[in-house]
Amino acid sequence: EQARSESRVVTLDLSDANSALDRASLMRELPHAIASGQLFLQYQPKVNVRRQEIAGAEALVRWRHPMRGLILPGDFISAAEECGEIAGLTLWTMRQVIADQQVMQAHGHDLPVFINISGVLLADDAFVAEACLIVKESQAKIGFEITETAVIRDPDSAIAHLQRFSEIGIPLAIDDYGAGLSSLAYLKQLPAAELKIDKMFVMQLTSSNRDPLIVRSTIDLAHALEMEVTAEGVETPAALALLSVMGCDMVQGYLISRPVALDAFIRFLDDEGHK
Ligand code: C2E
Ligand code: CA
Ligand code: CA
Ligand code: CA
Repeated sequence: EQARSESRVVTLDLSDANSALDRASLMRELPHAIASGQLFLQYQPKVNVRRQEIAGAEALVRWRHPMRGLILPGDFISAAEECGEIAGLTLWTMRQVIADQQVMQAHGHDLPVFINISGVLLADDAFVAEACLIVKESQAKIGFEITETAVIRDPDSAIAHLQRFSEIGIPLAIDDYGAGLSSLAYLKQLPAAELKIDKMFVMQLTSSNRDPLIVRSTIDLAHALEMEVTAEGVETPAALALLSVMGCDMVQGYLISRPVALDAFIRFLDDEGHK
């Protein structure tokens, strides 16, 4: 037993060292990856429960690495934040979404697309100015998803910047609600019209005792604040049925669709239109 736990410690140390090494090399490679087209977006639909129609989409970034294959954002977003590439990555994402929305429109689909905005960017005046410019010039229907944790770092500046986004018509959604540092004080102050319940409360919704209580009271709280609620991580018909009874406005999750590349997303939208 002793030997086993020792070997486990050694393995853990090694993998930590490896991931630190990976991280450093990913950080070095990221600027080139953005410039040379290794990043791409996938889209995941958001469905209005009552109307049973697609209400919008979330854009999720992926990195097709020439040596390592597909890398998911969980493995490079925090590196991008650290090495100062997150503003460039996010501006690239915005421009790509605008181009993709034009392709969707050419296929008869006019949908708002939400983009994830890292907390560090809410303190970045240059990013905020550029993002506002891009949205104003393109007139694109782009929304931003932000976490409360992002706001807690520097509340005054973050709230002021979010106010600017809101004033020029960028809808804001509070992402991962309940998962990080949540504060009811910020919930009250943020100009967000949508609250997204984190998938950690949704994925075991119908097998847990507590999750349904948490989800229902969060939906009620959001509605009392006149916000719309999206549940993410909806994987089963039973979860969808329960969320519908609870009055959840929108759902997102593998049950409806995994995140998919633009061409597959357009096929999905085409098929939905024919149902
Ligand atoms: P998120 O904003 O909470 O995005 C939802 C994540 O849940 C996505 O993971 C999505 O693929 C996954 N997901 C969706 N439906 C289901 C489901 O039914 N079950 C399960 N188990 N998972 C589901 P992904 O794509 O790996 O993204 C991870 C995180 O990376 C995102 O979490 C977001 O915070 C961040 N991210 C993604 N794209 C960007 C980006 O362009 N910029 C920034 N700053 N962050 C990004
Ligand atoms: Ca999100
Ligand atoms: Ca989320
Ligand atoms: Ca998340």
